Amino acid sequence: MTGPDDPERLARLDHAHLWHPFTQQQRWTAREPLIISRAEGCTLYDVRGNAYIDGVASLWTNVHGHHHPALDAAVKAQLDRVAHTTMLGLSHPPAIELALRLVDLVPWGLNRVFYSDNGSTATEVALKMAFQFQQQTGNVKRTRFAAFSDGYHGDTLGAVSVGSVPLFHQIYKPLLFDAVVLPAPREPGGEEEAACIEKALALLDAHADELAAFVFEPLVQGAAGMKMHSASFLKALCERARKHGILLVADEVATGFGRTGSMFAMEQVGITPDFLCIAKGLAAGYLPLAATLTTEVVYSAFLGSPESHRQFFHGHTFTGNPLACAAALASLDVFEEEGVLPRVDAIAKHLAVLLKGWFEKEGVASVRQCGVMAGIDLVQRNGEPWDPAVTFGYRVCMRAREQGVLLRPLGDTLVVNPPLAIRDVELTKIVRTAAEAMHAEQG
Ligand SMILES: *Cc1c(COP(=O)(O)O)cnc(C)c1O
Repeated sequence: MTGPDDPERLARLDHAHLWHPFTQQQRWTAREPLIISRAEGCTLYDVRGNAYIDGVASLWTNVHGHHHPALDAAVKAQLDRVAHTTMLGLSHPPAIELALRLVDLVPWGLNRVFYSDNGSTATEVALKMAFQFQQQTGNVKRTRFAAFSDGYHGDTLGAVSVGSVPLFHQIYKPLLFDAVVLPAPREPGGEEEAACIEKALALLDAHADELAAFVFEPLVQGAAGMKMHSASFLKALCERARKHGILLVADEVATGFGRTGSMFAMEQVGITPDFLCIAKGLAAGYLPLAATLTTEVVYSAFLGSPESHRQFFHGHTFTGNPLACAAALASLDVFEEEGVLPRVDAIAKHLAVLLKGWFEKEGVASVRQCGVMAGIDLVQRNGEPWDPAVTFGYRVCMRAREQGVLLRPLGDTLVVNPPLAIRDVELTKIVRTAAEAMHAEQG
């Protein structure tokens, strides 16, 4: 084949001109890139026509499957009206309607919706709002943030400052502000968690007067390698923080929209956060859209005359894009019409059975699951970790890809986190293929 869709031409041009995120380009350019040209449901097709099951929901974003008729129609209908206008000085119907839907959807009286366009900005906005709120309500000494060890809140510098995945964040250290890091466990409910809670509570107490907010990924610390803690662990920390006047920022960029079994993970924690950050699944994985929801109490502290300079000094050009809002509105309809949350429950149960059947074996240190989110820690048969130079997790995923399953590891942790539209046969194929790939790579 020649012409614009010629796979060889595209591969050559990708290698010549693109720079991929979180990617060692030297390894990338050593093999043919997988170039996706279309998708249907939970299957992606490359330019050569090969099919792959989307085992990580296009990086944890896709909710109802690709090329969904209702979502496509909503975006096309909005396209016939207008593709983009600004939220700075103007408003538009999809942003207004979506704000209402989100406020109703979130169970905690978070009445204000501030849009942006990705997860990093959603948390960045919460950090700046929390800081400014404290400044404007007389708590000028509250200038710091508490966050979990191995937390991940995005790649902008504020979000990186409250993040602490060592591999991602170490090099930028000199550019960052210093957060109070609370220890968080890898597995929920065990001895490790009990040890963490004591230390974390003591840190909150010790820094009580200087903390503006505590920012956390509830229940699942995704990028850390699907680290998980129990709802009671987080609840205890949130209660202590609140007692000290520290605001709570729930980063549900990854956990939001059904992935943990409830619409939002905080519903299981039973705590009302002061800020809720949402992005990845908000527009069903169709278009970039994010929002930071907060309370009228926080909002009120920013009111005043224009000369009082109390307004929130933040906003992105593509904030609240109409096409993305239209996709998000349609997604919320699909949640209701297709009974997605009850289906998540069934998927989670099936996934638990599959993980038990395929991954209770030598070379697996731990299997964790919360809803449809799962992490499988891979080690050598003798229980020792793999030498990082082996890049074992990456090799397993590359082998699974040859069998038509797309996965992306976090180090040597295999991640399964499919669209909520995944069918039983597809989920079975994902887990079986991953296990067979692991077995083959073990040699
Ligand atoms: C992915 C993620 C982010 C960052 O979102 P981007 O859209 O990639 O900027 C922030 N927080 C959490 C918990 C995430 O998983």
